Amino acid sequence: MPEPKNILVWFRADLRVSDNPALHRASIDAAAAGGALIALFIICPEQWRSHDWAAIKVDFILRHLRELSADLAKLNIPLLVESTPTFRDVPKTLASFASRQNCQAIYWNKEVELNETRRDAAVSAAAKQAGLRALGFTDQTLIEPGEVRTGEGNFYTVFTPFKRSLYRTIEERGGVHLVAAPRKQSPLPLAPSPIPESIAGFLSHVPDAPSLWPAGEKHAQTRLAAFAKSHLGNYKLQRDQPALDSTSTLSPYLAIGSISSRQCIAAAIPANDGKLEGPNLGATTWISELAWREFYRHIIVGFPRVCMGRAFKPDTEQIAWAWNEHHFNAWCAGRSGFPIVDAGMRQLSATGWMHNRVRMIVAMFLTKDLFFDWRRGERFFMRHLIDGDLGSNNGGWQWSASTGTDAAPYFRIFNPFSQSRTCDPAGNYIRRWVPELASLEGGEKGAIHDPSTLPPLARARIDYPEPIVDHAKAKDRVMKAFQSL
Ligand code: FAD
Repeated sequence: MPEPKNILVWFRADLRVSDNPALHRASIDAAAAGGALIALFIICPEQWRSHDWAAIKVDFILRHLRELSADLAKLNIPLLVESTPTFRDVPKTLASFASRQNCQAIYWNKEVELNETRRDAAVSAAAKQAGLRALGFTDQTLIEPGEVRTGEGNFYTVFTPFKRSLYRTIEERGGVHLVAAPRKQSPLPLAPSPIPESIAGFLSHVPDAPSLWPAGEKHAQTRLAAFAKSHLGNYKLQRDQPALDSTSTLSPYLAIGSISSRQCIAAAIPANDGKLEGPNLGATTWISELAWREFYRHIIVGFPRVCMGRAFKPDTEQIAWAWNEHHFNAWCAGRSGFPIVDAGMRQLSATGWMHNRVRMIVAMFLTKDLFFDWRRGERFFMRHLIDGDLGSNNGGWQWSASTGTDAAPYFRIFNPFSQSRTCDPAGNYIRRWVPELASLEGGEKGAIHDPSTLPPLARARIDYPEPIVDHAKAKDRVMKAFQSL
């Protein structure tokens, strides 16, 4: 048996070649050791199911793997694919793969979620036993979770001081640094694995997904460049207007790591005098949104109970949430009788994505107007979003339900009709997704925001449900429930 010299790079949520810390380091170390670099991806269908991954997200990953495999092949790095039902089998699979492929080390970019962290700890232990080096790199976060702390040494639980500390740390390091491109390797007589077309149980119902969400880091970069050129400057003014398509739509690419948050920030700061917070309000606000992503990733590391379906605020576990299957189904199907809510839910089912302001509105509606447990909405989102991401999804839902860290105060309950008038004044977003209301007028008093205000004859001509709940009464119920905690 020859002395093991090769290095294995295990890809997970980092499906790109550029700015990839583990890949870059491995490309140097493998060449230095006179060995080869082999890439591996492990499909874990049962685990993905238990994490409620949407079929559209799994399809997006498979399409990305094909692109990644082609990009790696240009560097003489074969991408192989293994499959195990759950994370439990991953340490064994990796150890035996490494031994078969004559590897001396396994490198990966760290993930932050609890099950993933536990899996990686088990992999490290198995690697040690097998005499393999195991190295994890910081990639999904701008700094290591927990690196910035409060004066008392705790994880931050409030966004603004967290962001201040994060920015200070980045600036002390001279900004955000991208990792150099990986080195080309010597050719290796090992063919890349074929990538499956689909995985049983994950059949996407969004036929347009490949054109809406083209796969590959090149597409992510093109999207970033187009956004930075055309929308970044106006982001602060336009980001809350879903009809304008003025946000980056990079979240699916960030969620599976075909682009990094470092790359996003590096593209935004030139417009901001090279600063995280600077004269360009659009760039400053956009970078701040990326900081929210970072915040929620730090939260799930500091407070792993939120990865286990628990509320961040433990006292809110006592809330006796309501339940009504008919109303839940109406919310899911975009037939609640609240046009802005229905437009958002239909955008989700048609595209696998929803605008952020509308996510807030539909989540607030489910948890406050319907008073349903936020976990129901969290799961439904995960099962349908192409950008499903535990930290941001959980953070968004617990924010809306007022059970989370730095959440909306329970008494600030969105009125879906006034939200609609403010964020979609002309009603164009509603028109796009709820075509049966397309002929109604927009504007301050426009019936498109609330068709129940139409005169009876005009109302009868539209096949659209009446509101399933009375907003004023619902608000009262929420106030009482939270006040009794
Ligand atoms: P942009 O406005 O262009 O922002 C750039 C990036 O910043 C985003 O791609 C995203 O990575 C990050 N970002 C922006 N806003 C937020 C935010 N509020 N919280 C965390 N990160 C943010 N985002 C996900 O990526 N996955 C989810 O599963 C997810 N679920 C959500 C559920 C709810 C109830 C809510 C209210 C928000 C959720 N978000 C989630 C956050 C946000 O809605 C999306 O990141 C955003 O809409 C993505 O669109 P974009 O890429 O055009 O964002």
